[in-house]
Amino acid sequence: MSASPYRAPGLLIDGQWRRGRSGQVLTVVNPADGQPLDTLGLACARDLEDVLASAQRGFDTWRQVPAHERCARLERAVVRMRERTEHIAALLTLEQGKPLAEARMECGMAADLIKWYAEEARRTYGRIIPARAPCSRMDVLKAPVGPVAAFSPWNFPLVLSARKLGGALAAGCSIVLKAAEETPASVAAMVECLAEELPAGAVQLVYGDPAEVSQALIASPVIRKVTFTGSVPVGRHLAQLAGQHLKRITLELGGHAPVIICADADLARVVPMIVAHKFRNAGQACLAPTRFFVARALYGDFTDAFAAAARALRLGAGLEAATQMGPVANARRQAAVRDLIGRTVGQGARMIAGPAPDKGFFVAPTLLADMADTAPAMQEEPFGPVACVTPFDTLEEAIDRANANPYGLAGYLFTDSARSIHSVSARLEVGSLAVNGVGVSVPEAPFGGVKDSGHGSESGTEGMEAFLDSKFMHYTA
Ligand code: NAD
Repeated sequence: MSASPYRAPGLLIDGQWRRGRSGQVLTVVNPADGQPLDTLGLACARDLEDVLASAQRGFDTWRQVPAHERCARLERAVVRMRERTEHIAALLTLEQGKPLAEARMECGMAADLIKWYAEEARRTYGRIIPARAPCSRMDVLKAPVGPVAAFSPWNFPLVLSARKLGGALAAGCSIVLKAAEETPASVAAMVECLAEELPAGAVQLVYGDPAEVSQALIASPVIRKVTFTGSVPVGRHLAQLAGQHLKRITLELGGHAPVIICADADLARVVPMIVAHKFRNAGQACLAPTRFFVARALYGDFTDAFAAAARALRLGAGLEAATQMGPVANARRQAAVRDLIGRTVGQGARMIAGPAPDKGFFVAPTLLADMADTAPAMQEEPFGPVACVTPFDTLEEAIDRANANPYGLAGYLFTDSARSIHSVSARLEVGSLAVNGVGVSVPEAPFGGVKDSGHGSESGTEGMEAFLDSKFMHYTA
């Protein structure tokens, strides 16, 4: 066992932290050195029965708490999160691998998300519809949908859990979160901040066999809403389960973000910005820029400048102050990214990569150039530190080629031409588009994808709406 302060959490069931009844455990591993950190107890079917009963009680209690008070309690939880940032961020770096500065930033972003939703709780207005007859009145009321089952992944464990926790709790729902087993402690430390302010059962946290947990929760009549962030295959599976039990579902399933760099772009400004954004979290971000379509006149200069900046990144353990990029989060991801690079190079791509440490789950920042749009890395989501670069001749061609992919989450455009901005914003099939910048996700705006990237939105008023039902009231005097 590591000598670190790391401790895997228990399960939060009905207001109590406890080990799973089955005694089954998983080992949590530090991706920077491949060494075990601790063992995590898993929930069994009997634990989940307790969870569901408590989720119903928690909902019955929490929905009665006035929106003003819900807001105040969530805001107090946010203050605790901010006070505990150093602790939460260190856990996140140990179990996920990202540099400590990024872990601190993620903790801040998760707090911002919950804070925004907390404020939004006081603005869940219904509406009054003009009446059809004298002495009558028509209202639309908003009501929390009910207990929520939420599934979050390991790449941004805090932010992607906070999007679900904040929305559900602000709306007045109870929520059962199954976060990723690979990164359990940072999420538990965040959930603890919430649990200290909320009635038992309003928020619960479980770890277990993902397929068993999702099957049990989604099939239960207690659960009224499902929300998942993760891969397309698992999203399809959960959508089927939700359909079978007629549950509302929100899905955020990743992306393969196009970046269109027009001939008038200023590479001196674009390259440092996009390289930092690309390799943040070792590229394991659903919104990471991955397919770079570069105007032919800039192709050579862009490729050289990007490769030089990528090679200069300092790789290492996230707790080391000099580290700019950590390992990928697990051995599975390392193998998958290396396999994707190998298959793409096998089809003739030119590969430019720097060195990477040989212990732990590191993958060197890698640029793949001069390949066909049908090459594996252009088609499959890399979800790692891999960028593909290809030249284009006309903007229409770049848009068509960018759209020729099943994903549609984020997109990026660099140009000063109003005409180009208009064309791309009208035609590019994405849920978010950043022009001359990289900001595609903020708490107050909807975040979600089209095509295989999922459906529904998180964050923004749309994200809150996902946890609300509308009830029509027609009064006649
Ligand atoms: P995976 O498909 O095995 O799992 C993805 C996530 O879903 C994990 O958090 C896992 O715990 C959970 N999961 C798996 N089966 C489940 C089930 N039956 N019910 C509920 N949850 C379940 O993939 P992985 O190896 O963990 O990640 C690889 C791929 O996942 C990446 O290539 C990427 O496409 C995708 N991914 C996307 C995001 C995102 O932000 N959209 C985040 C993480 C992973």
